[in-house]
Amino acid sequence: MPGILRTLQDMTALSFLHEPGVLWNLQSRYKRGDIYTYTGSILIAVNPFRPVPHLYGANVIDQYRSSPREQLPPHVYATACAAFRNMIRDGAGQAILVTGESGAGKTETAKLIMACLTHLGAQHSSSRHSGAGAILESNPLLEAFGNAKTLRNNNSSRFGKYVEIFFDPAAGGMVTGAAVRTYLLERSRVVAVNNPERSFHIFYQLVYGASPGDRAAWRLPESASDFAYLARSSCFTLPGQCNVEEYHHTRRAMSHIGLSEQQQSAVLATVAAVLHLGNITFTDSDGEGAVVAGAPGRRALEAAAELLGVEPEPLAEALTTRQIQTPEGPIATPLSVQAAVDARDSMAKVVYARLFEWLVSAINTAVDEAHNGTGAGGGSSGGTPPGRHLSIGLLDIYGFESFDVNDLEQLCINLTNEKLQQHFNQHVFKWEQAEYEREGVDWSYISFRDNAEVLDLLEGRMGLMDLLDELCRFPKASAEDLSHKYRSSAAVSANPRFTKLNRPATAFGVEHYAGSVTYSTQNFLEKNRDYVVAEHQSLLGRSRRPLLQELFAPEVPAAQFQFRSVSSQCRRQLAELMSALSQLQPHYVRCIKPNPSGAPGEFNAPYSLHQLRCGGVMEAVRIACAGYSYRRPFAAFLEHFWQLCPEPVHAQEDTPRVGEVDAGPQYHLGHTKVFLRATAAAALERRRLAA
Ligand code: ATP
Ligand code: MG
Repeated sequence: MPGILRTLQDMTALSFLHEPGVLWNLQSRYKRGDIYTYTGSILIAVNPFRPVPHLYGANVIDQYRSSPREQLPPHVYATACAAFRNMIRDGAGQAILVTGESGAGKTETAKLIMACLTHLGAQHSSSRHSGAGAILESNPLLEAFGNAKTLRNNNSSRFGKYVEIFFDPAAGGMVTGAAVRTYLLERSRVVAVNNPERSFHIFYQLVYGASPGDRAAWRLPESASDFAYLARSSCFTLPGQCNVEEYHHTRRAMSHIGLSEQQQSAVLATVAAVLHLGNITFTDSDGEGAVVAGAPGRRALEAAAELLGVEPEPLAEALTTRQIQTPEGPIATPLSVQAAVDARDSMAKVVYARLFEWLVSAINTAVDEAHNGTGAGGGSSGGTPPGRHLSIGLLDIYGFESFDVNDLEQLCINLTNEKLQQHFNQHVFKWEQAEYEREGVDWSYISFRDNAEVLDLLEGRMGLMDLLDELCRFPKASAEDLSHKYRSSAAVSANPRFTKLNRPATAFGVEHYAGSVTYSTQNFLEKNRDYVVAEHQSLLGRSRRPLLQELFAPEVPAAQFQFRSVSSQCRRQLAELMSALSQLQPHYVRCIKPNPSGAPGEFNAPYSLHQLRCGGVMEAVRIACAGYSYRRPFAAFLEHFWQLCPEPVHAQEDTPRVGEVDAGPQYHLGHTKVFLRATAAAALERRRLAA
């Protein structure tokens, strides 16, 4: 293969290392069906939007397992194999971070990596039902409860996921277990879904897939449109997918993780209860406050109460009144119709969110049991690796988001991305540094863009999240109060990454690494308060149904007084994640969505470029350019530029002859490679083409 074609597989080996060059390279590879490309240590995966089965499978994994990276085309298996190999070689834990915008292919890529790692680790394991096998089988379950159709992806993950797979290096890398952790489920989707999106898949699977007996027990109507929460959109089915089949698929996944028929029924009855809650409507009773409205409201109340294992009257009371403490003791005050609707929605959201958490821990328990079965011992759910075992962590997390109006979820998601970007920059920088050191080249002048400033604004002391938590302690505080607090706080308003916006009063801007984002404080306070209404907690905690009792078991007393907020939970989880990642050698996969409509084979250059910038690929290119971006082993360099040598030079020639190619002062000879500045490489390439 001619040198120039070979170099395309790694963009940092391009002679023309600039945006058009990078784009042209990706585009021409994509058109040829080469969806994977390296940029130094990063793998770029461009979504094919069509099945590409010839690229995958056990045979392909086996090829990548036994070949060095340069010998085969770039591949996600190569990244997984490198992580596995490094883990064994260095005795060090690894992390594979998969990022990209919605629909870019993160979850599909993560599944390919998981399958590859379990294949590699199964070599020495007698049972496929090791912990990691169980984790793979749990994917459909998490997707049923945590994925939904959005405008950008028919199977969009509405939560972040970190899977750890444990290996025993002493046993040749046998898989010994796994653990999954999830982040920030988009619980607001349970009660609010916009046309033509859908709520979580499980709702539609349940309505259309349940057996006649179950339908009667769960009081399921014929159509999803009979449930108010689902009727907010008119989309109930997905092209190429059958709700009934998917329902059975989900039930099988539940069986795989060891849930009994009885447990499965309890889970699904709870899902049905959430839908019935949404059908409880309220009306004002002569200015006295909300009461459940009419016969349909009553029927929904009775169905929800039955499935939640409580009596209808106490449920109605919990939804329409609030206890107020007075010097004379607690009294129940009626809620307005709107407040009752909010109370109902918040109950539906918290039941669903706790059910999701319960499923995640059921998966971890199942994995632990499978894991103990392989004789590796120990390992708690949530994943402390047993002493002599090493892990590969796999992160599939939402990418940077910027809509017309952005809410607290986007602030948390974008904070996560800022943190990962910082980690990425530091890593790319370190990788470059190590390369220069290995080759004995002076590297001290390279600097990289640091996003500490914006992190300070978001999560620093008295930053946006601190002030939000502070104001959340005041029940009467408004969105305007929060905006005012932001503008008047020195730490926020003096931060150059913060933009004051005048209209509306609740808007503010943040200059993120991936672009500026306008947020609205309108729902920040409400969304940030992460508590269960005391009346709901005590009612559901007394449910006749064991599952509900478990979901609403009274909290440990100390925690009751602890302030809980979404932003503090996000920061805490993120700190744990970053500290786990800091112990691991990272590998990056950047997924690119080549066009907004998901059309196979279509590469929209500006659209893709934006993602390359947001995902830090252009930054990695910039870091490479800041130093000697072009680096090739001596032989490859001479082979490519032989026309420019004073006399024909063969690839096997000795080192000093490399210097005879006149590249001006902008080059450096390392121990085994030629290093050229991007401009020098481009100049040489022009001369070569002209020669
Ligand atoms: P979100 O952030 O919304 O969860 P995502 O990045 O996880 O998005 P995926 O769900 O993985 O995106 O991918 C979206 C769709 O793209 C898939 O449903 C599939 O149709 C297609 N796709 C992604 N990767 C591949 C691949 N390697 N081969 C074939 N199709 C793919
Ligand atoms: Mg996903």
